[in-house]
Amino acid sequence: MTTPSIEATDSRNASRHGKNAWLACGVVGATLLALIALGHDGRRIAQLAVLAVPMVLWLAWPLRSARMRRVRTVAVWLWAMGFALDGVARAYLLDTYQAAPDGAMVLGAAANTNARESSEYLRMHWRSAVIWSAALVVAGVLVGVFARRGAVAVAMPDAQASSVRTRMPFWTRSLVLVLLLVACVAYASKPWRRLHPVVFWTQWSQSVQSLRGAWADQQDMRDRSLAQAKAIAPVFTQAGPSTVVLVITDSINRDNMALYGYGRPTTPRLLAHKAQAGDQMAVLQNAWSVDASTLPALRNMFHFGLPQSENSENSKSSENNGNPPHLLALARAAGYKVWWISNHDDLAIEQQHARFADVVDMVNRTPGRASASLDGEILDCVQEAFADTSTDRKLIVVHLMGAHPHYSLRFPANANPFDDSVDAVETGLVNNGRPTWVRRFRQEYDAALLYHDFVVSELLQQTRSAGKPDEYRAWMYLSDHGQEVGHGSDRAGHSPSTASGYRIPAVVWRNKGPLPSGAAVQQPFRADWTGWSLMDLLHIQWSGQMPERNVLGDTYRWQAPDIPVAVESFSR
Ligand SMILES: [Zn+2]
Repeated sequence: MTTPSIEATDSRNASRHGKNAWLACGVVGATLLALIALGHDGRRIAQLAVLAVPMVLWLAWPLRSARMRRVRTVAVWLWAMGFALDGVARAYLLDTYQAAPDGAMVLGAAANTNARESSEYLRMHWRSAVIWSAALVVAGVLVGVFARRGAVAVAMPDAQASSVRTRMPFWTRSLVLVLLLVACVAYASKPWRRLHPVVFWTQWSQSVQSLRGAWADQQDMRDRSLAQAKAIAPVFTQAGPSTVVLVITDSINRDNMALYGYGRPTTPRLLAHKAQAGDQMAVLQNAWSVDASTLPALRNMFHFGLPQSENSENSKSSENNGNPPHLLALARAAGYKVWWISNHDDLAIEQQHARFADVVDMVNRTPGRASASLDGEILDCVQEAFADTSTDRKLIVVHLMGAHPHYSLRFPANANPFDDSVDAVETGLVNNGRPTWVRRFRQEYDAALLYHDFVVSELLQQTRSAGKPDEYRAWMYLSDHGQEVGHGSDRAGHSPSTASGYRIPAVVWRNKGPLPSGAAVQQPFRADWTGWSLMDLLHIQWSGQMPERNVLGDTYRWQAPDIPVAVESFSR
């Protein structure tokens, strides 16, 4: 049996070890948090911290065997270095390119790089590489030193051991328990789990691999499309210069535009253009997309709404027999120089459409919903395209974020005039029983539209004032799809299942040539037929023409599209 004095020493030892262990947790945890905060922002920091927490807490768990403690030290160190590498890599990319690792640019660069290029790159960027590596080394040493100081279980008779173990105060135990519970929830949720460095970077390297694989094909596909377009031999039928601008926006529902009769003044500038331009500008009153998301919508716009032919898989090596041509390929074959200026960063769109252009400008390099680059950023690039003197046939495609969720990222801070007074729109939403959060989204959505009105009007102004007054210019604006923001249901976002997901604006301006006017602007228009009207704006003739699908022509015939929602009437 032990004497009282030895027991006291043991328990002092245990409490010293206990304090050490909490200090170890604190230092390792703080180091991790600092590195996480370097590479992530906002809610992401909390999510990553929760994912990291179980291993850090392990340091507070008393272990008796020295071998287990060594295993723990190594495990905690590796774990922490995983988060550290992730944080540093992200911080480096943000700092250098304002880009996230899964952005098209970074993925593309990683997929494109060979050993020689990597060494060239390192030679150029060694300074920042040294700085970030130093941060990593400091973190490694700190974590290494403190991970060794995890809790030790002091050998002593069973009765005393249990009394020492219960010395952890109640609130500490509760806190640890809550943290572990939250961590369990985090690991159970797929979107959270995906943020874990090991999962994220494993998937990242898979994306790079599959991109590498797919690329050869895409370049091949574009080469075949260009050859196909040359074989079609489209003809430019006009004398003199021609400048055509196509503005494709994202997630704009025409019901929210004052231009289309909305109750809030969301489009003052476009209304002013309309008043000024008279019959040079047609606002197509009943425009519809036939797709509720971007990729299929753009595919249809640029392939004339024609389906891929069924034998396309077998005909890879020969000509695209039966496959619809790509509009940009046709424009180039007819002598147009093509620009693609985008505030999106989407790999698929870049590969399937943008890379057909002679000049590609991807202004926004952070992918997905968190990307906060405002659409106005593209205006300078568009001005440069207008100023280009190397050609007198220009097709400038501008791809905007429009009002893509999150709406609050689509307009400048403090530029929401719709959130401080109760107007008719607000009252209407209240009467329809829309909850507060939907009404708040609607206010933000409308503020996004107001900013959008500025960008779109600037683009129209640039087009109207480009070149000499007698030179032909045309401009077409439409959205890839609509958006539901409490229009017919308590929801906000893309909406394949309600008509709001398909109700888009479509506006055409040109300084020469007929446009629909009077009753003709009431004819419904479908976005998958955009190509047929664009060929009219471009003055290109080709063998595949279908005049009955050109909304600008006299022989236009509306046909209702097959969309997965019941639409009472396409004429309203
Ligand atoms: Zn979209």
